[in-house]
Amino acid sequence: MSAVLPTYARTDLVFEQGEGVYLTTTSGETFLDFGAGIAVTALGHAHPALVAALTEQAGKLWHTSNLYRVAGQERLAEKLIAATFADKAFFANSGAEAVECAIKMARKYHSHNGAPERYRLITFDNAFHGRTLATIAAGGQPKLLDGFGPAVDGFDTLPLGDLEAVEGAIGEETAGILIEPLLGEGGVQAVPWQFLRDLRALCDVNGILLLLDEIQTGMGRTGKLFAHEWADMAPDIMAVAKGLGGGFPVGACLATDAAAAGMTAGSHGSTFGGNPLAMAVANAVVDTILAPGFLEHVEAMALLFRQKLARLKDEHGDVIEEVRGEGLMLGLKTRPPNQDVVAALIEERMLTVPAGDNVVRLLPPLIVTDAEIDDACDRISAACRRLGERQPAAE
Ligand SMILES: *Cc1c(COP(=O)(O)O)cnc(C)c1O
Repeated sequence: MSAVLPTYARTDLVFEQGEGVYLTTTSGETFLDFGAGIAVTALGHAHPALVAALTEQAGKLWHTSNLYRVAGQERLAEKLIAATFADKAFFANSGAEAVECAIKMARKYHSHNGAPERYRLITFDNAFHGRTLATIAAGGQPKLLDGFGPAVDGFDTLPLGDLEAVEGAIGEETAGILIEPLLGEGGVQAVPWQFLRDLRALCDVNGILLLLDEIQTGMGRTGKLFAHEWADMAPDIMAVAKGLGGGFPVGACLATDAAAAGMTAGSHGSTFGGNPLAMAVANAVVDTILAPGFLEHVEAMALLFRQKLARLKDEHGDVIEEVRGEGLMLGLKTRPPNQDVVAALIEERMLTVPAGDNVVRLLPPLIVTDAEIDDACDRISAACRRLGERQPAAE
């Protein structure tokens, strides 16, 4: 039917236009978008500042390659390092590439410091780090590795939250630990902040690196610029993407000077990475998120949404088992299959994203208003009512 490689189980909807938290299909139906293209359109659709940044840049210059300096990269790197633990930034085109850079940097760090045998990373069950050969090995999910030959060597996957297991697994070949501060694809699963602090301490004691994958949790999604700020700790290396471009493909790998010391000229690169178009948009995204009051708005909306979802859970306990997450990265663990709930929400003209552990992710654009949260709750309530009626009678 379609000439596109059928690697996605797609819903039969084609969108033509978007504005803020709403999307319109080619047949003129309007949907409330609480999936944000999987936490990507952080500022909603057609945000005026992003449209202006992209169109202005489009008329000037698209691409020069990294054979030359790119002013937008230098500006964006300055902003990101001023706002984070990091001293250096590398720009890529996607999340998986940002994680690849993080993995390579961790290996290079030890090689540069005379310990090339330290190449292995400790990772965690139900993690998701991307779809390249190395990042599927890092994620460790059999479903994603199936059929793709021997997994890339160098990843030791452990149960999440088991500090003793991590201590036991650190050996002569360990380069570092890679973790999402809040599991996204894995089902909006919380990682105790104390566990992140304990990992930080373990890395320091053992002279290894802590790598955070903040691709989904970052760029204001949880109410802080990056989720690890809630835990009052910092990594050595961090992968960023999704919301960074607000819909324009871009990723970044941020690192301390110490962690990045081995990444010298020629050690890594990307043809497209950090091109002027991506940098124009990402600079506008970062300026908007860092403007006074923006993150406070995210926190306020998150608190409101969370309270309303708790009420919906009380009313519809037959459908909603649990509300979880941080900030505007929320998940409903549902009793019916999550796919049925996502489908029922589509019938209510609302978009959400399924995740592991039978969770429906709610990832509204960060510019969402309280009226739009009310709108979402009405639609969730209607979907729950309909699903409740369809449930078989209690045994
Ligand atoms: C989406 C995601 C990735 C992969 O990003 P791509 O842009 O699809 O390559 C990696 N890690 C996490 C935590 C993600 O949510």
